[in-house]
Amino acid sequence: MILEEPIKGVPLVKNFIDGEWVESKGEIRDVVNPAKYEVIAKVPISTKDEIEAAVEAAKAAFPDWRRTTPLARARCLFRLKELLEEHFEEVSRVQTQEHGKTIDESRGETRRGIENVEVACGVPTLMMGYNLEDIATGIDEYLIRQPLGVFGIIGPFNFPFMIPLWSAPYAVATGNCVVIKPSSEVPLSQMKIAELVDEAGFPPGVWNVVNGGRTVVNGMLDHPDIQGIAFVGSTPTARDVIYKRCGEMGKRVIAQGGAKNFMVIMPDANVRATILALMTSFFGNTGQRCLSGANLVIVGEDDGFYKSFMDAVVATTSKIVIGCGLDESVQMGPLRDKEKKEKVIGYIESGLQQGAKLRLDGRKNIKVVGDYPDTCFLGPTIFEDVTLDMKIGSEEIFGPVMSVMRAKNLDEAIEMANSNLFGNAHAVFTASGKIAREFQYRVTSGSVGINIGIVAPMAFFPFSGMKQSFFGILHTQGQEAVRFFTESKVVIQRWF
Ligand code: NAD
Repeated sequence: MILEEPIKGVPLVKNFIDGEWVESKGEIRDVVNPAKYEVIAKVPISTKDEIEAAVEAAKAAFPDWRRTTPLARARCLFRLKELLEEHFEEVSRVQTQEHGKTIDESRGETRRGIENVEVACGVPTLMMGYNLEDIATGIDEYLIRQPLGVFGIIGPFNFPFMIPLWSAPYAVATGNCVVIKPSSEVPLSQMKIAELVDEAGFPPGVWNVVNGGRTVVNGMLDHPDIQGIAFVGSTPTARDVIYKRCGEMGKRVIAQGGAKNFMVIMPDANVRATILALMTSFFGNTGQRCLSGANLVIVGEDDGFYKSFMDAVVATTSKIVIGCGLDESVQMGPLRDKEKKEKVIGYIESGLQQGAKLRLDGRKNIKVVGDYPDTCFLGPTIFEDVTLDMKIGSEEIFGPVMSVMRAKNLDEAIEMANSNLFGNAHAVFTASGKIAREFQYRVTSGSVGINIGIVAPMAFFPFSGMKQSFFGILHTQGQEAVRFFTESKVVIQRWF
């Protein structure tokens, strides 16, 4: 069944500043639905004045919002949660329409986003400090957590709904005000959330959204009234733009970057369950996920096991149904745009040039269900005989490409994973607790999967990353986000 599209008539996306929907004076760009390759909305590239107006509004709202009790702030979030549940299907379809992912992937994204709102509702407990009586005779000491002011939240294109919710609910729950900049490729999900924020009764200025690109980001980074930035995107932007400038400006920073995740298969793995997990890991969200499997490492020198495992992987991959994400029968949608498809094709060509064996060619197997142009579609691709020095073995491809390698033993597999510059989410598939523990202990990635292909931390755990996948100390989500968005103040008191 093909579901109805929620976005109709090419709307112009506005900024949400100080509780008002404001038309931008910036240049206007197209928002394109990649499945149909048609324009579904227009988005502004907002100006420096517009980001400054949003920061001004947030700054003005802060003193009253900070004095609003944590319980009252949580009530706004409870109302937002209820509204998101009421609009669950609509906001999920918006994600599919603007991004291309399948409707089931969007529903999963919506659920994960809402879970962060739910966790942030626990702010009266989460924000508590601690105390100790009689640190010296008659003297007590206690720690309180206080909000800091205005925070900037910057999102990537691949999870337009969920990723700003890794941060924003905790920022406002703890008494801060936020300015969110969605990716200009996919601005509609955050527009929908802001409509519901407005309905939920947050005071004007607490939650602002400014659409655009570098001017908005730089406006946030340079603004003395922005206390910190929570950023998710590619490593060059995270490291060279966000982390660097936040350091220069003395701002707090969470900067989550790219990934190259290794999926390590031990010979004792449960083959059937593992292959199913690998399908969603490598090809879910069309490979456009920082938690996607990228390199598949098959351990052991048993050629028979390798061959039968790979035959099964290729057979299962070949059956993936490609098409428009609003068609409920579809298992993999298009890439986000034509340029991203060309970039992935460039990686496929480099794999061939560098001597990898192309086992399944996604350029040729684009059988799209329904009457859609193949502009942004690409079939799943599998390379064998990949080595770590090849581009497809070392760089983030961000598309539906599996690079298969072999390792003699667990030690070699761990060394291979650890030699990569990224460290986001590696996984091992095994029946052995000892091997799993060894892998978990030694591997340098922020998240670790044990018989799990997509290691997405729940909202009450931090979204970690190591090496070139993360720049900062505290992470988004849960307790760590509460710590990030608050300052610890220690009080020592004595009464005479
Ligand atoms: P991107 O870095 O191109 O863009 C991210 C945001 O930064 C966007 O809002 C964009 O407008 C802005 N931006 C881009 N270049 C900029 C510049 N030079 N100056 C100022 N602002 C700039 O990333 P993307 O392509 O939107 O997202 C995909 C990347 O995000 C992948 O590398 C993926 O691995 C990563 N990602 C990481 C995580 C994680 O948790 N570690 C999660 C999702 C995505």
